[in-house]
Amino acid sequence: MDLKNIIYKRFERYVKIDTQSDEASRTFPSTKKQLVLLKLLAAELKAIGARNVKLDKYGYVTGEVPATTKEKKPVIAFLAHVDTSPAASGKNVRPQLHKRWKGGDIHISRRHGIILNKKNCPELAGCAGDDIITASGDTLLGADDKAGLAIIMSAAEYLLAHKEIPHGLLKIGFTPDEEVGQGVKYFNVKTFKADCAYTFDGDVAGAIEDENFNAAGVKITIEGKSVHPGTAKNAMANAARIAADIVASWPENLLPETTEGREGFIMFTDISGETEKAEIAGIAREHDPKKLKAMERQLEAIVAAKRLKYPLARIEVSFREQYRNMKEVIDRRPDVMGKLMSAVRAAGLEPHVKPVRGGTDGARLSFMGLPTPNVFTGGYNYHGRYEWVSLDGMNKSAEVLVNLAREWAK
Ligand SMILES: [Zn+2]
Repeated sequence: MDLKNIIYKRFERYVKIDTQSDEASRTFPSTKKQLVLLKLLAAELKAIGARNVKLDKYGYVTGEVPATTKEKKPVIAFLAHVDTSPAASGKNVRPQLHKRWKGGDIHISRRHGIILNKKNCPELAGCAGDDIITASGDTLLGADDKAGLAIIMSAAEYLLAHKEIPHGLLKIGFTPDEEVGQGVKYFNVKTFKADCAYTFDGDVAGAIEDENFNAAGVKITIEGKSVHPGTAKNAMANAARIAADIVASWPENLLPETTEGREGFIMFTDISGETEKAEIAGIAREHDPKKLKAMERQLEAIVAAKRLKYPLARIEVSFREQYRNMKEVIDRRPDVMGKLMSAVRAAGLEPHVKPVRGGTDGARLSFMGLPTPNVFTGGYNYHGRYEWVSLDGMNKSAEVLVNLAREWAK
């Protein structure tokens, strides 16, 4: 199956549309410009012959590829998001196609000296001989997740043109605002009526993800006691300094900058304060819910010690659940990952199951009743100017989608 040309043409068209989402916005979608691409995708779905194409009031685009089998099969859905990360500009993206990469330096921008190679990105190593797409040094590329859009659209078009491939009813969904954590906030799982779904929003070819962090927000408030510094001995509690002391007491091996893989962390994201009052905000992340709780206890113990050290201050710590690891939901439906593994193998790749070090729309969907693991799109270095995607990896991803459709009809 070679859809490289049509995938590239679509991808090129999609990345040129600026769809950056905005954390501070109170509207949904968070930015109007996302609707430009969502409308285009709805029109394109209709043009390729998808059924029941809808763009609803929230901006969600849904459509269907009708079943080709007579017997009823499970309904499978494929999802991708249109927005790009607020972390880097997505305006005037100029994609470059580096054909048949031989393994040397890829010059993203000679002007800015932005070079991509195996040294600064070992994940490239598996892509020798591939066509690599990058931006041009001023913006992110937007493969996260326009690669997913191009893959799903092109595979759907292929399936609509090849009715001899046996599959059940397939659903497609394109969503806004994944990067600001709100992607499926209003997504109606009940009316969507799928048995399981796959987000095409992963990274290098072969990688699949059924696990994400358990996440909690951390808040520490410190009430100090202000006294003239000249007479402060044994009478002052400086809330700002106590905040600094707490943050400095957290072990250095439990920070985002010192952990990887399955290792959890607490990151202190905001500290504000003065003598009378200080506040620390942070995030706690762990794949294992028990270890997350243990980490929370560990921070509470540090706070308890500071209460003894600073009896004149009042220190409170609290945690708030943000999202949970989807693995517990997906594990209850072993066929969801089982079929995916078979589909990846049928595309000639060895599946590499790994945990997401973050949250995914699929996590939220899983807890809404729709088990949704994540599938690779062939890219890496997302959210910045070093972002790249392998066109061959995208083609493999589209092949996995077609194989999934087949697998679920078996
Ligand atoms: Zn994404």
